Amino acid sequence: MTEWEYAKRIIETINARGGEAYIVGGAVRDYMLGHLPDDIDIATSLFPDEVLSLFPKAVPTGIEHGTVTVILDHHPFEVTTFRSEGTYSDSRRPDRVALGVSLEEDLLRRDFTMNAMAFHDGNVVDLFGGRLDLESGIIRTVGSPYERFGEDALRIMRAFRFMSQLDFTLDEELRQAAESLGHKLRHIAMERIAIEFEKLMAGPAYKKALTDLVALGIHEHLPDVTAPLVEHIIADERKPVNAAGGWALFVHHAGDAAWLAPWKRSNALKRQAVVLSRLFSTGLDTFAVYETEEATLDTYLRMERRDGVSASELKRTLPIQHRKQLRFDGRDALALGAVGAEIKGVLAYLERSVVLGQLANDSETLRKEAVSWLQREEKC
Ligand code: ATP
Ligand code: MG
Repeated sequence: MTEWEYAKRIIETINARGGEAYIVGGAVRDYMLGHLPDDIDIATSLFPDEVLSLFPKAVPTGIEHGTVTVILDHHPFEVTTFRSEGTYSDSRRPDRVALGVSLEEDLLRRDFTMNAMAFHDGNVVDLFGGRLDLESGIIRTVGSPYERFGEDALRIMRAFRFMSQLDFTLDEELRQAAESLGHKLRHIAMERIAIEFEKLMAGPAYKKALTDLVALGIHEHLPDVTAPLVEHIIADERKPVNAAGGWALFVHHAGDAAWLAPWKRSNALKRQAVVLSRLFSTGLDTFAVYETEEATLDTYLRMERRDGVSASELKRTLPIQHRKQLRFDGRDALALGAVGAEIKGVLAYLERSVVLGQLANDSETLRKEAVSWLQREEKC
C-alpha cells in the first residue's frame, strides 16, 4: 500500500464514524507539484479522544494541539483535530488553540496559500488561491503578511526556505512585511530558526533565497550572518547537499568552528560541519578518508562533485577501516614496555603507517616496528 492509500484508509475510517477528514498542508502542495510527499498529515473534525478510540495503534503525541499519531503497518500519520489559533501576544505561540472548529478555520491559520489546501476524495479545497500561486510559483501568506508574521515570525524563515526548496518567488507585500518585521525573529527559539535555515541551505534555489534574505535585511537577525559571508557562500562552487553541508560552508567561510555555537545544533551535526569545513581547506588524503565518517565523506564527495567516486568504495580500498582491525593493540604495547603517552603514540604511528600502506598489517611486522619506534622515543 502507498502512503496515500493508508491515508485514504484513515480518512474512510473517520468518515464511517461521521467525522470529516482531509489530507492537508505540505502533502497537498507536494502532490499538486507532482512530488511525492515526505509525510502526509490529516486534519479531522473528530476530537483526539475519538481518533484514539478509532484506531488500535494511536498515540497522543501532541494532545495539547489536538494531534494523535495513528500507526498503520508501522507507517505513522499525524491526525490533528481542526483547530484555530487565538491571539499571539509574543510573536511566537498562540495564547490558546481552539479545537472543534471548521475546516475553513483550520485552513485560515496556516501560513501560506500553497500550504492551506485540503484534499479529499479527489477534490481539492482551495479557499485562498493556493493552486494559482503554486502555478505561478509565488509564496503568499494566508491573509495579511504583516498580521501573519506579527503573530509568528518563524513564518518569515519558512517563506525563504520554501523559496529555496521550490525555486519560487516571494509576493511583493510579503517581502515588505518580512523586511519590516524581521526583527521579531528574536522572539523565536534558535533551534526552530536553524531548522528552517538548514532546509533553505539544502534547497536547490538556496542562492536566490540567500540573496533575497540579505536584500531584505533578514540576515541581521540571524547570528553572525553578515552580507560578505553570504557573498562568499554564493560564490562558492560547492553546493550544500544537506544540512551538514550548508553549515560547513558557513564555518569554512567564517573561518571559525565557533561560528556554529549560537545556532544550537546537535553535537553530531556540528562535528560533521567542522570536519567538512576542514576538508574544504586541506583536501582529501588517504588518512582523511580513513578518519572521516562515511556519511560525512559522502557529503564531501558530492559537494566537490567527485562523481563516480563513492565514500564506501574509497573506504573499502583502505588496508584497514577501523583501529580495532590493527594487529597490534594497547596490550601489545604494554608488553613491549611502553608506558603512559608512549602507548597512544606508538599505536597512532602504527595505525597511520598501515592506513597509508607503509606497513603491512601483520603482528610480527608491527611488533618489530613498535620496538624501533620505542627505541627512537627513548633516545629523544
Ligand atoms: P515539509 O514538506 O518540509 O514538511 P510542510 O508544509 O509539511 O513542509 P511542516 O512544517 O511539516 O511543513 O508543517 C505542516 C503544515 O502546517 C504546513 O503545510 C502549514 O499548513 C502548517 N504550518 C506549519 N508551520 C506553520 C506556522 N509556523 N504557521 C502557520 N502554519 C504552519
Ligand atoms: Mg511536513
